[in-house]
Amino acid sequence: MQLKLHNTLTKQTEGFTPLDPDGKSVTFYSCGPTVYDFAHIGNFRAFLNADVLRRTLELLGYKINQVMNITDVGHMTDDTVADGGGEDKMKVAASRLAEAKKSGKLPKNASVDPSDPMAVAEFYAAAFLEDSAALGMRIVDDAKNNPSLMPRPTQYIKEMIAMVETLIENDHAYVASDGVVYFSVQSFDAYGALSGNTIETLRSGEGGRVDMETQAVKRSPADFMLWKPDATHLMRWPSPWGEGYPGWHLECSVMANSLLGNEIDLHSGGEDNIFPHHECEIAQSRCATGCDTFSRYWFHTRFLLVDGTKMSKSKGNFYTLRDLLEKGATPAAVRLELIKTHYRSNANFTMQGLKDSQRQIDRWRRLKDWLTDHKDVAANPNGPLATAKKQFITSLCEDLNVAGAIGALNEAVNAYAIETSPEGNGSSTLQEELEALLDMDQVLGVFDLETEGGSGDLDVSKIDALIEARLTARDEKEWGRADEIRDELLKMGVAIKDGSDGTTWSIIVQ
Ligand code: AMP
Ligand code: ZN
Repeated sequence: MQLKLHNTLTKQTEGFTPLDPDGKSVTFYSCGPTVYDFAHIGNFRAFLNADVLRRTLELLGYKINQVMNITDVGHMTDDTVADGGGEDKMKVAASRLAEAKKSGKLPKNASVDPSDPMAVAEFYAAAFLEDSAALGMRIVDDAKNNPSLMPRPTQYIKEMIAMVETLIENDHAYVASDGVVYFSVQSFDAYGALSGNTIETLRSGEGGRVDMETQAVKRSPADFMLWKPDATHLMRWPSPWGEGYPGWHLECSVMANSLLGNEIDLHSGGEDNIFPHHECEIAQSRCATGCDTFSRYWFHTRFLLVDGTKMSKSKGNFYTLRDLLEKGATPAAVRLELIKTHYRSNANFTMQGLKDSQRQIDRWRRLKDWLTDHKDVAANPNGPLATAKKQFITSLCEDLNVAGAIGALNEAVNAYAIETSPEGNGSSTLQEELEALLDMDQVLGVFDLETEGGSGDLDVSKIDALIEARLTARDEKEWGRADEIRDELLKMGVAIKDGSDGTTWSIIVQ
C-alpha cells in the first residue's frame, strides 16, 4: 500500500515515493528543539507527529534515516527575520536557571553552572532526550547508537562557514556595510514558493520588530542574516567575517546536507516553521548545492492550543511533560493525546482528553494481556484484529488519518468485548490476533511506555462535580459556598476561569 501525504510545497496530497532507486530507504530531516527551556507538549505534538509519520513508513517496510537537530547555538529571542534582534536565548536560559538555583527550585538532580552556556544547553538537551524517550520517539533510540543523528549546530560551525562562503561565491549572499552577511532573496526565484509569500508582500519585521538601521543596509527588506560578527555575543566563533555567530536558518540546511545529502525525501516541523525558517532553508540549500529540489515532501503539524490559543513559551500558557507526570498522567496517555487529532488540524489540549486517552490505552492493554494469556487458543484466521489491521493501515495511508486508524482498532476491541468465546475452527490461533494488535501499536507506540503515572492524582470527575456544585451555589447566590469550592479546587492544584463559554479549568504549574 502507498502512503498519500499532503505536501506543503505543492499543496497537494501526493503518493509518497522515496528517492532511493531501490525504493527502500527514506531520508528524513526533522526540525528539533532549541534547548533553552524544557520542551512543552506543543513542541512534542510536532515531534510526535513526525514520529508517527516515520513509524507508518516503517510499518510499510521502509528503512528510515532520520535526523533531528538539537539547537544549542544562542539564537535570538526576537529573530523572526533572522537579523539578530532580541536577546540571546542561551542568556535567557542561563538567567532562568540562575534564578531557579537562587530560589532553591532548580529541577531535581540538577547541578549545572548557569554561567556556562554549553552546560545550560546540555542540561536542557538531556531533559529533552529524557522526555522524548519517555514519549517513545524512535529517533532517540537511533541516536543512542549513532549520536550524530541528533546533531548539535555548535559542532557544525565549520560547515556553516563553508556554506556561507559558497553562497557568497555564487552571488546569493553579500557582506553588507554593517559587516553582516545576508542572503539575497532576490537572487533566488523560488523564494516564497513554500509559504506563498512573494518578495513584494514581504515586509521586514513582520511579526517582530523593525530595525531601521538594519533595513537600510540590506538589498531587500526580506534578506536574512547568514553570519553576524559580534564580539560581545555569549557564544561566538571566528570566521572570515569576524568573530560572531550564524543565522538561525543556516544550521538545518547545513546539517541536512552533511548528514543526508543534497536532496532529501522528507522534512518536518511545526506550522510556524513554514515561514521564515523552511522558506529560508530551501533558499540556502538549493543555492548552495545547485539542485532543483531540497526536500521533496514537506510535512507540517498545526499547533496545539490551550483555551483556543497557541501553547507557547512566550505566552507562558504551556505544560511540559514533567508538569503532567507530576499530576499523575502517564507518558503513554500524553503520547496518544498528542497524536490522536489529525496533524493538519489544530488540537485543543484538555485534561479530560488526557483522561480519555488513558482509558483508551487501558482497554487496549487489557486486551493485549488477555491475548497473551490465550495466544495458543484455536481461532478462525482473519479475526477482528487481523481485519482491523488492514483498515488501520489504509487509514494511515490516507494522509495519516490516525483517528480513522484508531476507530478501526476499536471496532475490533469491541468485538472482543462481545465475543466471549473466541474459539474458532482451529485452523489458526489467537497468536495471529495478538500479532496484529502489536503491529498496530508499532505506529501508536503506547504499549512500551511507562504505565504508571507520577504521585499526583488528578480526579477529573471530582473536579467536574466541584465546578458543577460551584455553579449551583452561584445560581442560588450562595457566594460564600462558591468561594469555598474555588479554594478547594485551588488546593487540588486546579485553577478555574469563568468565561462566555462557561467555566474552564487548568492545572496550576509552579
Ligand atoms: P522551538 O523549540 O521553539 O524551536 O520549537 C520546536 C518545534 O515545536 C518547532 O517545530 C515548532 O514549530 C513546534 N511548536 C512550537 N509550539 C507549538 C505548538 N503549540 N503546537 C505544535 N507545535 C509547536
Ligand atoms: Zn530547522
